[in-house]
Amino acid sequence: MNKHILIVGGGYVGLYTALRLQRKLRRELRDGSVRITIVDPNSYMTYQPFLPEAAAGNLSPRHMVAPLRRVLPKVRILNGMVTEVDHNERTVTFDPLEGPAREIAYDILVMAAGSISRTLPIPGLTDIGIGFKTVGEAIALRNRVLHLLDVAESTEDPEVRRRALTFVVVGAGFAGVEALAELEDMAKHSTRYYRNIKPADIRWVLVEASDRILPEVGPEMGKWTLEQLRERGIDVKLETRLESCVGGHVVLSDGTAFEAETLVWTAGVKPSPVAAGGGLPLDERGRIKTTTMLTVDGVKDAFAAGDAAGVPDVTSPGEYCAPNAQHAVRQAKVLADNVMRSMRGQKLVEYRHKYVGSVAGLGLHRGVANVYGVKLRGFPAWFMHRTYHLSRVPTLNRKVRVVVDWTLALFFRRETISLGEMEHPRDGFRAAVATMRRVA
Ligand SMILES: Cc1cc2nc3c(=O)[nH]c(=O)nc-3n(C[C@H](O)[C@H](O)[C@H](O)COP(=O)(O)OP(=O)(O)OC[C@H]3O[C@@H](n4cnc5c(N)ncnc54)[C@H](O)[C@@H]3O)c2cc1C
Repeated sequence: MNKHILIVGGGYVGLYTALRLQRKLRRELRDGSVRITIVDPNSYMTYQPFLPEAAAGNLSPRHMVAPLRRVLPKVRILNGMVTEVDHNERTVTFDPLEGPAREIAYDILVMAAGSISRTLPIPGLTDIGIGFKTVGEAIALRNRVLHLLDVAESTEDPEVRRRALTFVVVGAGFAGVEALAELEDMAKHSTRYYRNIKPADIRWVLVEASDRILPEVGPEMGKWTLEQLRERGIDVKLETRLESCVGGHVVLSDGTAFEAETLVWTAGVKPSPVAAGGGLPLDERGRIKTTTMLTVDGVKDAFAAGDAAGVPDVTSPGEYCAPNAQHAVRQAKVLADNVMRSMRGQKLVEYRHKYVGSVAGLGLHRGVANVYGVKLRGFPAWFMHRTYHLSRVPTLNRKVRVVVDWTLALFFRRETISLGEMEHPRDGFRAAVATMRRVA
């Protein structure tokens, strides 16, 4: 046996698959009969359920990511994108962070490239819209909200102020609802430091095309969450679509039109483009078609799981597993075992997991949960949200850092500093150079 396992994507599926292989194939990795490579543009795995907490400033962004090279010392990590897969030749095209693209040969392929935001051709969306899937987006949003409070406090123009203080979130799944609830909570808390901004001056609008929010916690808890958000003054618009947002002029399908400086797009995900980049079979939603054993349907030596894969849900015949971390982590375990079984010529096992429900944070000390039929609201749900996600964070090191962040937040007031200038670190230097030219 001399095998090279190539994993495309170092997120949930990629990291957990590699972790298990690293542990179970210790001997083979040592004697060189097995090599594992992960390709990912980032050198870290993002624990996405903590993005809202990072945006709210309860968690340091560095603590909600797991550094791949440190966690996976026996695995080669290459940073860049896989742009094409030629499975007949058992090669991928790898586009590194710098320099020309090159081919990498492999024996076994694991497709774990996750998903990207599912956007629509809405006028203006690319101008003012921002997604909520990466650490960069979460921190940029945090900086933006705080910066716009500064703008509103410092202007005398009521139009500029109103526009700065209007925030729109499109899509009311857990990413949208949690992002909105945490940011609203943070903004409300921050107003105590501003003389001219009261919580009621800030307008939050949640736009949802269907007639319910947070389907992940079921209809009853979704309805409860809706009432909670409305009680907090959030304008939740159901059965409403975003029609356009050119230059920040937001037009909704219910006829409402207003100006907003910020629009967060969380209206679903679609598979990473690399899923379609290599002749692997796709399902009707563009995901890599897999069997219940997490092998790519009808293709030898290729596996796929997570958001990029259409995995049949054996607990609900005719349906697919939803794109969430609950499935991704469990699929990774079965996938790693099946990779080893296939190398040893053993029978593969089926992926079977019945969705157990979800927990969501709705701001500090507030949450909603529906897990194994147990429905919780408010503080108990928030506590469950934190303990559940803490238990899922990879490595003890990260867990400790997260707990330290939370503990500090218990004793000190929350950080409300906008470090937006970090996104433009050369501006000051450029301005200095410009003054020098004028003097010359
Ligand atoms: C804000 C937010 C909150 C969430 N909360 C929850 C929650 O509470 N509970 C829950 O169950 N789920 C939650 N999810 C969903 C969950 O995070 C995803 O379902 C999970 O991350 C999917 O795992 P994955 O490995 O398929 O993809 P990811 O974890 O996204 O990993 C994919 C990786 O592939 C890399 N990649 C992409 N394209 C390429 C390429 N061409 N070449 C190489 N690498 C590539 C990416 O950089 C990324 O690192 C949340 C998601 C978000 C955005």
